[in-house]
Amino acid sequence: MTPVIELNQVSKTYFIGQGLPVKALQSLSLTIEAGEFVAIMGASGSGKSTLLAILGLLDKADQGEYKLLGQNIIGLSDNDYAALRSNYLGFIFQSFNLLPRFNILENALLPFLYAEKDSHDKGRVIDVLKKIGLGDRLRHRSNELSGGQQQRVAIARALANNPKIVFADEPTGNLDSRSALEIINLLKELNRQGTTVIMVTHERELANHANRIITLKDGLVITDEVLNPSTKVTLPPLALINKRKNPLSLAGIINYAYEGFLSLSANKLRSFLSILGVLIGVAAVIAMLAIGSGAQKSVEETIASMGSNLLMVSNAFRARGISLGADSSVTRFTFEDLAVLQRIEGVKAVVPYVSGRAQIVFQDKNWNTTVYGSTPDYQAARNSQVTDGRFFTQQEITSRAKVAVIGKTVADELFGEADPLGQMIRINRINFTVIGVLPIKGSTGFRNSDDQIIVPITTAMYRVLGRDYINNFDVQASDASVLEDVQAAIPEIIGQAHRMSPQQLDGIEVRNMADIQKATTDVVNTFTYLLGSIAVVSLLVGGIGIMNIMLVLVMERTHEIGLRKSLGAENRDILIQFLVESILICILGGLIGICLGSGISWLISSLLGWNVIVSLRSILMAFTFSVLVGMIFGIWPAWRAAKLQPVEALRYE
Ligand code: ADP
Ligand code: MG
Repeated sequence: MTPVIELNQVSKTYFIGQGLPVKALQSLSLTIEAGEFVAIMGASGSGKSTLLAILGLLDKADQGEYKLLGQNIIGLSDNDYAALRSNYLGFIFQSFNLLPRFNILENALLPFLYAEKDSHDKGRVIDVLKKIGLGDRLRHRSNELSGGQQQRVAIARALANNPKIVFADEPTGNLDSRSALEIINLLKELNRQGTTVIMVTHERELANHANRIITLKDGLVITDEVLNPSTKVTLPPLALINKRKNPLSLAGIINYAYEGFLSLSANKLRSFLSILGVLIGVAAVIAMLAIGSGAQKSVEETIASMGSNLLMVSNAFRARGISLGADSSVTRFTFEDLAVLQRIEGVKAVVPYVSGRAQIVFQDKNWNTTVYGSTPDYQAARNSQVTDGRFFTQQEITSRAKVAVIGKTVADELFGEADPLGQMIRINRINFTVIGVLPIKGSTGFRNSDDQIIVPITTAMYRVLGRDYINNFDVQASDASVLEDVQAAIPEIIGQAHRMSPQQLDGIEVRNMADIQKATTDVVNTFTYLLGSIAVVSLLVGGIGIMNIMLVLVMERTHEIGLRKSLGAENRDILIQFLVESILICILGGLIGICLGSGISWLISSLLGWNVIVSLRSILMAFTFSVLVGMIFGIWPAWRAAKLQPVEALRYE
């Protein structure tokens, strides 16, 4: 009959630092028959644990041969080892190694996670738990149990996959003598039913319960005594079952997400801090995009609210590449130009502008704003009919009247709730009467079109700003069909009137609304991208935070990783588990971040009156981004966890 275990000339040497190599096992040969209950004894450091780890496929020997059920398994892959552990072997550790997040039943069922689906027999595990006296504690946590009870759960866990061999490394080392005896009796019972049991102990009394006692010294077998004959068991030959549970199944992912959730809620403050980075990043992305698309919309609205068929004429003559600005251009617009423009065919109206900053005072209130000088045609050209009060008249232009039409923002700043009409304000120390309030146009986020004052152009030029020229014109075409012709004719005619050189002519800019919309949109987009990329950077910083916390998690759970591997977890099972956890953190951060970002956007829109739009697209984008962050920054810690060697992970304290 083939022995269940056959070791031939197996050696294991440890090299630590500069010191001498430690020969933990020296050419050790050993045969164990199916059905035996073997106790391994020996002084501390004699190689018992090393031997058990090699027998249990948790570690690999440096040299020698290992036959499991007659088949040489040296040289098999890590995944094959995992499958063999899952299908043939069960482990019981000195420190129980129960997971505190799980209840008793969940702990005992843990091996199912890594085993073939059709071998799952939950009923049997519950029966075992009942038989060992824990039937009424299935939903309890491990920390509510005594040491002896915890070790019994660990035995139930070791038996979940119906192993052929059970390894126990000092299973009673942490127990009082009564509990120890109970555990030994359980192992004996197990052995009587046909399971091979290999137990390390240093207590002779406990070892005497076995059929056979092997004593080690310095990595060698020094005695091998058979106390009494063991049950004869015949096992089928070794089958390398690689039909594993697919780790990427939905059920698997849900299970890992559930585990991740348990692990996150076990340490709420730390979990919150670790999602904070992603949360802030996502909130920033959402808010920035909302402000950006809001500004975009405002620009569109503002432009749509301007009169139709409008052309804007400005003079930005550049001398030797240096922009001198409209005020210092060599050729300046005059009232003659106004007349010339009005004579162009297809022109309906021409509105001149002069503008400058001015300090506005009303009683003890001060406000700095832009003062425009213009004509009554302004209302039609800019679609700005004054309904609150009145606009000034042609008459008042001729008389350089000191009357002002003020924007809503100016009115609010200076008068608050009070009625501004008929009030006296000072613009650059000159008294003006407020005769009207401009209709609300809204702000584009960057420019507030309600923050302005309009006065008769002559008053602005000669009384307030001290200028004798016009800054720019609006030209309104009679209809869309002539717009292009008018646009082409304007520079030509002005050029002729001023006898401009070609360079000077270059400075005359005539832009239609489409041009302006494009220019403004470009500016808005640039800002949006700029703000958006800052937000993305903060998301990346959040990702680094996630990586940090994941590395800590992996370190904290090294022992657990070792346990899972002993239960048959493959590298990819561990990888996926930690990756799912990292993604979970980011998804949580992402969801809260989306809420926070929307809240901030809402706050900005209601406090500052900006247009903000939280679009579904930006939400999806932020969400995808946070999942990606979780994946990218989680993969390295997860991979580090996955490649841990089982024995090293288990030994880690
Ligand atoms: P036992 O379980 O009988 O106390 P071990 O098998 O744990 O003995 O250890 C055998 C020898 O190998 C000891 O001298 C121990 O110090 C050494 N040893 C065990 N594990 C390691 C390791 N990971 N690195 C270095 N030396 C080790
Ligand atoms: Mg040991």
